[in-house]
Amino acid sequence: MINLLIMGKPGAGKGTQASRLLEHYQLTHISTGDIYREEMAKDSEIGKLAKEYIGKGELVPDDITNDIVKEVLHKQDYPKGFMLDGFPRTKAQAVALDKMMDELGITLTSVINVDVDDSVLLERMAGRRVCSNCGATYHIHFHPPVKDCVCDLCGHPLIQREDDLEESVLNRLKIYNEKTKPLLDYYKKKGLLFVVNGDMPKDKVFRIITQKLGD
Ligand code: ADP
Ligand code: AMP
Repeated sequence: MINLLIMGKPGAGKGTQASRLLEHYQLTHISTGDIYREEMAKDSEIGKLAKEYIGKGELVPDDITNDIVKEVLHKQDYPKGFMLDGFPRTKAQAVALDKMMDELGITLTSVINVDVDDSVLLERMAGRRVCSNCGATYHIHFHPPVKDCVCDLCGHPLIQREDDLEESVLNRLKIYNEKTKPLLDYYKKKGLLFVVNGDMPKDKVFRIITQKLGD
């Protein structure tokens, strides 16, 4: 069983690498951002609540996010392991995750930090487009769809995330630096941190990660 955590600033390429790694190691994807986007699309109670924070680039409160992850982990629907993407984002979430994993008798295999400079991130997020149906991620220059504005996988229209607009992006970066960045040290001290330079073509980033984790 391989249990991974993928970290990085917003737009670093976590989702892009996660989707390749999931396929490669047959892992279950646990993305709190995706869960919130699904809930918002359903207009559920959690979705309505999350929308207030997400649109502004703020974090959804820890207790709500922790409960969601706890429920998913307790289902134990990850035969080959899981990939956590976008969680934990605060120290309180990291401590809660340790507790959840202790209860289940499981451990993290590795924490991958996709490291990218802020100047690169702004360009990546400004050009990011996502499928309105399946959530697949594209970039207008670095990973364009075959047909303009249409998903290669399911044919639905591509949209720009509301939180990828400049004001929200700057706020997300600020929050990342304040709340999430300290977690790198938390996992370094546990001997779990692996840093990969994310400012390279995505295939190369993927190769470096799989070389580290092994086949
Ligand atoms: P995150 O999940 O960390 O927020 P994404 O995986 O959605 O980031 O990537 C952000 C944007 O950058 C997307 O438009 C994606 O297509 C693009 N991207 C991801 N990795 C790379 C890369 N190595 N080089 C160039 N563009 C990339
Ligand atoms: P992401 O797709 O991971 O960039 O997440 C999009 C947005 O969802 C974030 O900017 C937050 O508003 C919210 N979100 C996702 N994961 C978390 C989390 N672990 N804690 C709090 N808010 C989160």
